[in-house]
Amino acid sequence: MNNNVYNDIAEKKDAAPVDVKDRAAVSLEPKKDGADGKKPKKSPLALSLFALTLAVICAAFFTLGFFIGKKFGMKDALSSLESAESSQEEKDDPGWNAPDYVEYQPIVKNEYSRPGITLEEVNGVVVHYVANPGSTAAQNRNYFNNLAVTHETWASSHFIIGIDGEVIQLIPLTEWAYCSNERNKDTISIECCHPGEDGKFTDKTYDSLIKLLADLCREYDLDPRTQLLRHYDVTEKPCPLYYVEHEDEWRELLADVAAALTASE
Ligand SMILES: [Zn+2]
Repeated sequence: MNNNVYNDIAEKKDAAPVDVKDRAAVSLEPKKDGADGKKPKKSPLALSLFALTLAVICAAFFTLGFFIGKKFGMKDALSSLESAESSQEEKDDPGWNAPDYVEYQPIVKNEYSRPGITLEEVNGVVVHYVANPGSTAAQNRNYFNNLAVTHETWASSHFIIGIDGEVIQLIPLTEWAYCSNERNKDTISIECCHPGEDGKFTDKTYDSLIKLLADLCREYDLDPRTQLLRHYDVTEKPCPLYYVEHEDEWRELLADVAAALTASE
């Protein structure tokens, strides 16, 4: 887009000398006619020379003014374009009808955590735990965002739920997150914070997770009994640890999502 703007300026610059030449040529003609005349009088010649000088000066000032105006006008256009682009970047679309409790804080596009690959279909939601006891949702979000600079690893998730139940969305649901291995291509991922080594979620985290899972099931018409997965169900990695070690509590969690879905219908 910038190239087009700059090309436009160049075109206008190329046009300038032609414009000035045309004006000079027009002004020169009466003089030539006068010179070809048999007995040109001094005062008309002086007058036409004066007129010519005046015309050239006027043309020069006019052209100068025109380009100064254009240049500043163009600068304004460029800076407003840039600010439009950056505000669009900040506000880019969450990709679904996000409920009010979801804070949309997109991370920057980069190959380590937000590759910008289109998520063609959603066939499930995968639940994870951050495996970093006591870390906050904001810290985990910033960690993923900073991978653009640190290049430490390839990782991210669509959502992070904090210990106090806060829900941050960091990647649009129309794009891949790097979270669930071979299921990155057709699932949405949720990372959950936890206070202890055992990975058990706080009640607030748990409640937000149930609410978010129910909303995603509704949005994508998913069956909570078969399309909500643990990372463990994809790769057998012990994640989310507590709900791998406590199978019964995972089943209870799925039942709670089904109940929340039914209650809202
Ligand atoms: Zn995981």
